[in-house]
Amino acid sequence: MTSKVEMKTFGNVIGGKTSISASGRTMESMNPATGKVWAKIPLSSKDEVDAVVQNSKEAFSKWSNLSARTRGDYLRKIGDLVAEHADELAELETTDNGWVLRETKYGLIPSLTELWYDAAGEANNIGSQGKTVQMGPNSFGYTVREPLGVVLGITPWNSPLFTFTIKAAYALAGGNTIVIKPSEHAAVSSLRYGELLQEILPPGVVNVISGLGTEIGDELVSHKDISKVSLTGSIGTARVITHASAQDPKSLIFELGGKSPNIVFEDADLDKTAEGITLYSIYTGSSGQICVGGSRILIQRSIFDDMLSRMKKLMTNNETVRFGNPLDLTTTAGPVSNLAQFEKVCSYINLGLQEGGEIVFGGRYGKDAVKNNDSTIENGYWVEPTLIKVDSNALRICQEEIFGPVATVIPFDTEEEALAIANDTNYGLGAGVWTTDLGRAHRMVRNIESGNVWVNTYGRVGADLPFRGFKQSGYGEDSILDYTREKSCVIEIN
Ligand code: NAD
Repeated sequence: MTSKVEMKTFGNVIGGKTSISASGRTMESMNPATGKVWAKIPLSSKDEVDAVVQNSKEAFSKWSNLSARTRGDYLRKIGDLVAEHADELAELETTDNGWVLRETKYGLIPSLTELWYDAAGEANNIGSQGKTVQMGPNSFGYTVREPLGVVLGITPWNSPLFTFTIKAAYALAGGNTIVIKPSEHAAVSSLRYGELLQEILPPGVVNVISGLGTEIGDELVSHKDISKVSLTGSIGTARVITHASAQDPKSLIFELGGKSPNIVFEDADLDKTAEGITLYSIYTGSSGQICVGGSRILIQRSIFDDMLSRMKKLMTNNETVRFGNPLDLTTTAGPVSNLAQFEKVCSYINLGLQEGGEIVFGGRYGKDAVKNNDSTIENGYWVEPTLIKVDSNALRICQEEIFGPVATVIPFDTEEEALAIANDTNYGLGAGVWTTDLGRAHRMVRNIESGNVWVNTYGRVGADLPFRGFKQSGYGEDSILDYTREKSCVIEIN
């Protein structure tokens, strides 16, 4: 497969300059569709951390003193710049993590522009967010929101550009500077994005350092000049970060994983639901590597067999699930993003069978999953969309986040039973409810323990709605309020 993007070495972005790490060490970035190296990225060492943070701290003193409105002007220009570079950014993201171009180009990149514009609007309004309170005949109080300082944004491999943007846009709007540490599994798009932002921003406002989380993570998190850490990643890393920041406590944001239920009642529109719970909830696109993936499908027993056959018909159709070069706009389903994740997903398919699960469709991976005899992709990390029928939600495949195109399905009889199964998880990020009964829809929305519930649709998010997690899914972030702190002042008038 020939990539439209040429093999290249990408550098860290520090103080407005792009360069390979000071240690000179690099690591390889794989194209998951081919299993081949396609780029090199810096493998920065612990010794390089302090210089990056100091550079961001220096930039903070000027950036935080600009008026919020001026910062908003910068952010709007970035939104425009992102739109101008849509093709390049989408191709980098797709080549590096396999998320198909038809989604990165037409869904992801426009959402980044929207986030920068939204953050610009929030910057414009932040000055009027405070309150004034009469405290007594001769005294009054007021509040102001202030920036925090240098923010550290730690991002995952499944959605590097989106997570970079949601952190940077609101952090910058609030007057902070930011250091981004992208995942070692997919850092290329973030390194290039960071470089691009230098065309607009003063040096040091956004710095990007690439390296292993286990090598430079602790050094960054525990650095005394980092005021806030925003992680999008796994609960395991969130625990390590909580521990690493314990000596010098700082504000933390965690956007973590999920094991989201997708509940189908017998009164649902079955055709629409079959499409919704397969094509738009977990399979295709980024192949289930999405935090809100509807990975636990619950179907009322009276329609169980009917729904399974509708889903199977859709997911075994070669037109619906078309593996291939993810840069080809006709490819509908991408590979698993990296080898470690591929091995993890495959091991969960095997675990599901050992736990007594029954494959409804899919189950093949690697060369066996590539049905179209395309030799250019046969070494890629392909996993067929897989549905495993189970009898109990207590199984490990129902409780642990798999993060791939693998879902479980379980029958239920009553609304109460569906709710109990839905909430029987440590996570609380997303949930789908498919029903035409309005009362039932509202009861489920009220009682499901998750930050986002979708009724007769799935996974829709927008800058105007909060995106939060409950339980071990973390707390989420979506606004300038997450990146500013509130100060109260009381004045006595003599
Ligand atoms: P991960 O936790 O393994 O890694 C995330 C980031 O943390 C990477 O940049 C990694 O290098 C870094 N890291 C690892 N160890 C570290 C340490 N000791 N100190 C500091 N940083 C460290 O997660 P992942 O596998 O990259 O991403 C997948 C996870 O992210 C899934 O659980 C997924 O659900 C979650 N996710 C959540 C959301 C959301 O919005 N809630 C969005 C996307 C992904």
